[in-house]
Amino acid sequence: MTRQQRLRVELPVVLALGSNLGNRAATLRHAVHAISLIDGVTVEAASSIVQTPALKLTGIDHSAPAYLNAVVFARSALEPHVLLKQLQRIEADHGRVREERWGDRTLDIDIVAFAHLHLNDERLTIPHPRAAERAFVLVPWLQLDPAATLAGIGRASELLAEIENDTTEFEAEPLW
Ligand code: ATP
Ligand code: MG
Ligand code: MG
Repeated sequence: MTRQQRLRVELPVVLALGSNLGNRAATLRHAVHAISLIDGVTVEAASSIVQTPALKLTGIDHSAPAYLNAVVFARSALEPHVLLKQLQRIEADHGRVREERWGDRTLDIDIVAFAHLHLNDERLTIPHPRAAERAFVLVPWLQLDPAATLAGIGRASELLAEIENDTTEFEAEPLW
């Protein structure tokens, strides 16, 4: 690994995990473990699992399998794009295929926040541009940190108050 890919410090990152195909809860558990094994990443905490109906480009799709979602707090010494690559490798290891946008998937891992960084290029937008409107991100994130804030956007609790909370608890114990 080159020096540019390694940061001098570990910075806090917030990851959002989702699965709506296969053994969804087992996939999320394995994914957290796999994240903890990335060289340069330390998992600090994970939320419990919440469930939400599938959101497709056409809207909520009750005929599609529901999503299980969780949020993971970690520290990363990897540069954001390098971290994304590792997360995409874990998605692929869990059988992720990309066909239609927002299609059913075994595993999705998104970077919600990376310290207070703002980034926007063809591969990565941080903070995640759709996190503010997703209860399945905000609810598990608030579990881990009631003061959670999307850098430059607002407090997660206030963002959640603006949208419909369509999450239900799936499993009470934290994933990590
Ligand atoms: P959404 O981003 O709306 O949650 P998705 O997670 O289903 O959709 P993916 O197919 O997983 O989308 O990813 C599409 C591309 O999004 C990736 O190839 C990646 O380069 C890009 N991307 C941009 N910003 C981020 C981010 N913050 N976290 C993860 N991927 C990102
Ligand atoms: Mg996503
Ligand atoms: Mg994704």
